[in-house]
Amino acid sequence: MPIAIFDMDGVLYRGSQVMPYAKEALDRLRRAGWDVFFATNNSTATRLDYLRRLTTLGLGGDVDHIVTSGYATAHYLERRIPKPKDVLVIGADGLRQEIRAVGIAVRDADALPGIHPPPAAAADGVDPGAMRRYLVGLELPPPPDTVVVGLDLHLVYAKIAEAQRAILAGAAFVCSNRDRAYPVEGRLLPGAGTIVAAIEVATGAKAICIGKPEPFLFEEAIRRAGAPLAGGRVVVVGDSTDYDIVAAHRVGAVGVLITTGLTEKDALDTASGDAVPDRVIHALEELFDLPEFAGA
Ligand SMILES: [Mg+2]
Repeated sequence: MPIAIFDMDGVLYRGSQVMPYAKEALDRLRRAGWDVFFATNNSTATRLDYLRRLTTLGLGGDVDHIVTSGYATAHYLERRIPKPKDVLVIGADGLRQEIRAVGIAVRDADALPGIHPPPAAAADGVDPGAMRRYLVGLELPPPPDTVVVGLDLHLVYAKIAEAQRAILAGAAFVCSNRDRAYPVEGRLLPGAGTIVAAIEVATGAKAICIGKPEPFLFEEAIRRAGAPLAGGRVVVVGDSTDYDIVAAHRVGAVGVLITTGLTEKDALDTASGDAVPDRVIHALEELFDLPEFAGA
């Protein structure tokens, strides 16, 4: 069965707005016998959260066809030798839930050393001495064996400090993705890569990255489809040359760039190597003009 993997944001919807022909394109592919997957670098929501969103938007799908970077990270950890036993997550609770779901223990966000400063140290920067004394005086638990970093909208200094302590003590260092930016309604916020970079600087270590442009996310989808990782027909549809198209090529898939999303104006002109798309379309209807989808 041929496999189509869709990036979601900027391809099938933008915020709460469904892209023209998104529902029709997915239905048409499913009717023509394609195994349709949804993939996202976002690690803050679980697959069930995404299923709810897809259902609300009328795009169909089921939990087995959704791959998030949090989910792929959990399965990467599960296969890692030695398998992690004690994970510290700097990220959202969706990421903790996905890792716990594969039977790996994850520390509670609330138990992080330094997360509850006393009132004298809590006011932002007013008394750095008080905050330093609080951090220095903490009773520290044994470091975790693995640190996993994703997008954390509640990042504080103490979290970076705890990740630094663990990694310097020898913990494995994994990140869900390295996205520079987090596009939300009408503006950009810093992406998970911003936080990963801070911890890399603090430790001199380099994180193993799971999300796009690395291949793990799409590999997980292909594995779920029961297909061999090499060979077979796999097409990726995404709006980013640097993330979607590079990852597509790393799993041997055809990379289709759609320019309706966040595609930067000069991305096509400046793309080189693995980032050069095999096909470029400007609307989802155009998928069916491509030879890959002939007869669908
Ligand atoms: Mg996208």
